[in-house]
Amino acid sequence: MNLMVFGAPGAGKGTQAKFLVEKYNIPQISTGDMLRAAIADKTAMGMEAKKYMDEGELVPDSTIIGIIKDRLEEEDCKKGFILDGFPRTLNQAVALEELMKNSGKKLDKVLSFDVPDELIIQRIAGRRVCSKCGATFHIEFNKPKVQDICDYCGTALVTRKDDNVDTVKNRLENYHKQTAPLIDFYKKMGVFAQIDGSQELSLVTEDMFKNLA
Ligand code: AMP
Repeated sequence: MNLMVFGAPGAGKGTQAKFLVEKYNIPQISTGDMLRAAIADKTAMGMEAKKYMDEGELVPDSTIIGIIKDRLEEEDCKKGFILDGFPRTLNQAVALEELMKNSGKKLDKVLSFDVPDELIIQRIAGRRVCSKCGATFHIEFNKPKVQDICDYCGTALVTRKDDNVDTVKNRLENYHKQTAPLIDFYKKMGVFAQIDGSQELSLVTEDMFKNLA
């Protein structure tokens, strides 16, 4: 099964993707996590991407498409995958279609989490992420079992550098301008499913799985 979680930053894509990983045992492919790993490894690509990420701007399409192409060719993607945070521009969506076509694959479902901007800003202020596996928690709405420790890998949780109000506003603006137009693209493909991402977390998960039943 080839899935995509879609929505604004802070809409719950990463959190819900973890549930999909557990259920279907297919990898979550988060371009944000891959870029943060490249920054931690201090690679040339990571250092270049950091300049954009710190400002809440999108990393250039050519860089992102290159990363995704290599990742989708890996062995663990053969039985399916969950795209998280990719594509974010029409160019990226077209490149993905081309990659999928060339490898005889198709996208089964785009799960889109709809959350108003005011709630996103509120949610991101309390967001904590695992610096190792990228799992996302919230100090109020999605608490880890042990305070400040990742449920999945036991690593300390941190606040992302780009999770501050000014950067989030810029990320939201870029989402509306560059990423939201993809909704029509995927509606036309007949794979788009809209989910009310503003509900309590377990209800969002329930609605998500209903769309896959
Ligand atoms: P995320 O963890 O998905 O919120 O991504 C964090 C940041 O990484 C974004 O604000 C962008 O700067 C960059 N990024 C992640 N995925 C993409 C993408 N598909 N296209 C461009 N930039 C991206």
